[in-house]
Amino acid sequence: MTNISNAFTCPFCNVTYKLEEPNYGALVLYFDGGELKSASEYWYSRDVNFDDALKVMFKKCPSCNKTVIETLGKGDQLKDEFTHIHPKSLAKQFPEYIPSSIRQDYEEAYAILHLSPKASATLSRRAMQGMIRDFFEVKPDTLYKEIDQIENQISPTVKKTLNAARKIGNIGAHMENDINTIVEISDGEAEKLIKLNEYLIKNWYIERHDSDTLMKEIQDINTNKQDNKKKH
Ligand SMILES: [Zn+2]
Repeated sequence: MTNISNAFTCPFCNVTYKLEEPNYGALVLYFDGGELKSASEYWYSRDVNFDDALKVMFKKCPSCNKTVIETLGKGDQLKDEFTHIHPKSLAKQFPEYIPSSIRQDYEEAYAILHLSPKASATLSRRAMQGMIRDFFEVKPDTLYKEIDQIENQISPTVKKTLNAARKIGNIGAHMENDINTIVEISDGEAEKLIKLNEYLIKNWYIERHDSDTLMKEIQDINTNKQDNKKKH
């Protein structure tokens, strides 16, 4: 097998593993002379060229046993076009202590990313607002004012970034006043907003959960030690 030794992070359990047999398999389907044919990835990679080809990949996680299925276009028309069959996107599966409405907006922003980057940016903006409201328990207001309410709890850089994301999300949500002004958002730009939400989930919710757990564990260890001391 050639060039498949790269690492892959399972979207179901976040464990990183190497894409190699028996956890990886790929087949290339192509049309040749009016006939549908298939070839192994190895065979196909040997400088063979066809008009249209589709590579189907199976990635089975050795940790949780779930399989990721993806396709990659290899021909002229589908060149490098990536499609996620299962799961629908590479959105991370975040823990259940993160509110489901936030996880849902995040997952939908990922699912719609290539179809409509504008709609994706709008969903990302909504997920971000959901987090600000839930995590910091702000008084519901406009997002602009909500960000102001938490400015003492975040760094100036984060505040600036949240306001930038707010404005980018607005492009997706509202028609510009001048309808001749069409501001486009690219897939890559919308994906950055998704990454920002992953950053906030990690730095706010997961960070708080992990430190709460550690603090409690240490207090429990001490409680047990003191109880044992009394018994002796
Ligand atoms: Zn897994």
